[in-house]
Amino acid sequence: PVPFNQAARRADFPLLSREVNGKPLVYFDNANTAQKPQRVIGTVDDFYRRHNANVSRSVHTLGEEATAAYEGTRDKLAQFINAPSREEVVFTSGTTNAINLVAYSYAQPRLKPGDTILVTQMEHHANIVPWQLVCERTGAKLKVAPITPEGELIVERFVELLTPDVKLAAVVHVSNVIGTVNPVAELARACKSRGIPLLVDGSQAAPHLAIDVQALGCDFYAITGHKMFGPTGTGALWAKREHLEAMPPFFGGGEMIRAVSFERTVFADPPHKFEAGTPNIAGFVGLGAAIDYIGEVGIDNIRKYESELLAYATDALRSVAGLRLFGQAREKAAVLSFLIDGVHAHDLATLLDQEGVAVRSGHHCAHPLMQFYGVPATARASLAFYNTRDEVDRFVAALEKVRRLLM
Ligand code: PMP
Repeated sequence: PVPFNQAARRADFPLLSREVNGKPLVYFDNANTAQKPQRVIGTVDDFYRRHNANVSRSVHTLGEEATAAYEGTRDKLAQFINAPSREEVVFTSGTTNAINLVAYSYAQPRLKPGDTILVTQMEHHANIVPWQLVCERTGAKLKVAPITPEGELIVERFVELLTPDVKLAAVVHVSNVIGTVNPVAELARACKSRGIPLLVDGSQAAPHLAIDVQALGCDFYAITGHKMFGPTGTGALWAKREHLEAMPPFFGGGEMIRAVSFERTVFADPPHKFEAGTPNIAGFVGLGAAIDYIGEVGIDNIRKYESELLAYATDALRSVAGLRLFGQAREKAAVLSFLIDGVHAHDLATLLDQEGVAVRSGHHCAHPLMQFYGVPATARASLAFYNTRDEVDRFVAALEKVRRLLM
């Protein structure tokens, strides 16, 4: 195992040392987007200073350097999620784009009236709305697997719902609202034995736990670079080669073809047939640095440290009078959604900001989950490995101050 020096790692993130409203920043909005280590910032800077050129088009030195760095990230990403092949990694601008690609290229041509897509009650809108859009176009319907009040998927119900009308199941790996870690391998086995492909929204899993798409046994896995300490506008879809080969391209343009005439276009092989146009080159080079960085910190160190911090923060929050915590799954990432009796989530977040504490408030792009809990919004503290117990203490002290102010 890689040794873990938390304080040294925290110091890798320049933004964390700033002040907000005259107080040292406590950044607890990591599920929204994560901060970037100097390694990533420096890599993007260096790319623009020394290597900037378009990819895959130029034989000149800069073009080759840019292409090597950009394509190098594909190798790193394939390794990071243990994909069997780099060709199965399609670069996208994020999870939203990755799921839409599957919805339009894979699902839409296969759906007809009477078919269904199975999702869960805890999905992000990115894993609901694309399916609704293709359902509207094809006459298919969405089915929803229920959860318990603790925020755990009811696996038996999910399995019962895998009837022959289900043409695809789509499940979040780690909930962005309540932190639940879903038993993806178990769900994948149930899907596979019925011939149903499974898509996993891994946005919130990639920064916090080891991902092995082969061990998980899913068909599609979507990730977002900016939540794993990389630049915004980067992400990927991993899909089994057979699926990528069977899928028509979603966008057309340059970079995704082998030959074009006005009569006919021969598309490039996957993944390039899904990557039309000039991509976010510097962003993907930065994402490569982020993956290297996570490897250096050690994803197992991250998981262990964050579990301990989660336990500490959960206990600390439970000591706040009138506080309701949403989601108590047994397998959980360090995400804490909460409300204080009689206080609106936005007021909580606004007043916490006065104390230098950044938390998100709102529906977290998960309206159906808010409806399940019967609240319009929650406040959410989402932690990363660079956060500390001291920050949790300052957060809870700020919360007590806010509570006294509003009561
Ligand atoms: N799914 C989940 C669970 C998420 O948390 C997010 C980001 N909040 C997304 C999907 C969408 O990711 P992006 O906006 O980066 O495409």
